[in-house]
Amino acid sequence: MTIIHWFRNDLRLADNRALLAAALSGPVLPVYILDDTAAGSWAMGGASRWWLDKSLRRLDADLRRLGSRLLLRRGDSVAVLKELAAAAEATAVHWTRSYEPGAMALDLRVKSALTVLGVTAKQFRGAALFEPEAIRTGTGGPFKVYTPFSRACRAALPPKLPAAAPTVLSAPTVWPASAALDDWGLHPAQPDWSAGMADTFTPGEAGAVERLEQFLSGPVGRYRDQRDIPGVAGTSRLSPHLHFGEISPQTCWHATFAAVANNNGLSAGADKFISEILWREFAMHLLFAVPSLPERAFRPEFEAFPWSPQPGALAAWQRGQTGYPIVDAGMRELWHTGWMHNRVRMIVASFLIKDLHISWQDGEAWFWDTLVDANLANNAAGWQWVAGSGADAAPFFRIFNPITQGLKFDPDGAYVKRWVPELARLPAEHVHAPWLAPPLLLAGIGVKLGETYPQPMVDHAVARERSLAAFQAIKGPAV
Ligand code: FAD
Repeated sequence: MTIIHWFRNDLRLADNRALLAAALSGPVLPVYILDDTAAGSWAMGGASRWWLDKSLRRLDADLRRLGSRLLLRRGDSVAVLKELAAAAEATAVHWTRSYEPGAMALDLRVKSALTVLGVTAKQFRGAALFEPEAIRTGTGGPFKVYTPFSRACRAALPPKLPAAAPTVLSAPTVWPASAALDDWGLHPAQPDWSAGMADTFTPGEAGAVERLEQFLSGPVGRYRDQRDIPGVAGTSRLSPHLHFGEISPQTCWHATFAAVANNNGLSAGADKFISEILWREFAMHLLFAVPSLPERAFRPEFEAFPWSPQPGALAAWQRGQTGYPIVDAGMRELWHTGWMHNRVRMIVASFLIKDLHISWQDGEAWFWDTLVDANLANNAAGWQWVAGSGADAAPFFRIFNPITQGLKFDPDGAYVKRWVPELARLPAEHVHAPWLAPPLLLAGIGVKLGETYPQPMVDHAVARERSLAAFQAIKGPAV
């Protein structure tokens, strides 16, 4: 009667319907399989691997408190599940449904392999608030525009209440051998670049719950006003926890409304927070409808965009050495913490695409490797939104000016000064364009442009014109 619970991006015990159903049916064999082949070109990047390592350790500790443990395997999921089902004499395999193309293809292969063995394969919902098939336009198709999509979500009944965590997991009679997490090399070595991530985040379900509680106990009330200010901790930073399924979106939704019920003053911020959770939902919905979203422009005319690949310029952007302080601050925050503020993600993405004319796919790939919240749907949707090639994207001609964006969203320069310490002594009015500061001032505080901090690598006004001309060319002549 053993049931295998196949953990994927649902690394939690609470509100895990697949796990709970298994726990209520009999002995449970909890399994995590590291299957890089199934993920194809989207195998996890370095920062995600660091997170996974910590999250699996926490999950194992949590399972042990329920009298169980986490069995680890690496390799082809189909072969591993077949072997484990036979070894443990399992009658069923449970898992939480994913909407990523690679994961969905794998689901089909797993289902057919298990069916041949007479083992029940059962998928449960839990990664999204609403199943993508459940939110449809009037004509029955998927939504391509956020606002009507979010309206349809809000009109749907509130999501189900979160399910409780199992209180005990009875152990199977047979425990097949487990791989050792230490052998997987998920934690970076030589060099170990993860210290900033460990200082910033606590991977695992308890860390996720704490993060949500902390956010709902204060910052949510100021979220509407502060969510765009990268110099203050005004957002939830739940994205990696949500990505790895350490907390469910249902839990976030209901906890948010419970906080508002206790304090109506939180309602404006809470509503905005929910609308961001619905952006996550929208990205998943889009990826489900358009599986090529991570690779190809949603608007086909953008496939012909005349990018100029420049490895040197790409490297300067990646290292935060562009000479534009707000861009460099963002790229360094990313490298150090594995996370970047949403406003700054938009600014750095616009700079790569529209100032350096490097393809959004190159930026997407760098984010994939360096973000702890790297998520196929959100990353592709975010990059295509900025590129103007996505569904419901910002129009291409809306090109972010890195200086005015800096002045508007980091007016006191706190964010730049934190991540670009070379400029920390500059007065706020000069921090976003140090090359315009009086030379005597720069000399007085030891800033030598081109030596202690780069000169701007492009002239924004010139780069902007070049982008607009390229865009005009792919759009064709005006009619
Ligand atoms: P909060 O503001 O607290 O929002 C709460 C939650 O809502 C987030 O945790 C996230 O799950 C969701 N959310 C918020 N904004 C968005 C958005 N614009 N699109 C989709 N979901 C959103 N987000 C990722 O999770 N993974 C990615 O790989 C990713 N790549 C991005 C790439 C680009 C170029 C851009 C512009 C955005 C990207 N985002 C990505 C979306 C967004 O930047 C992050 O979700 C957000 O910054 C996470 O911080 P937070 O948890 O504090 O967000």
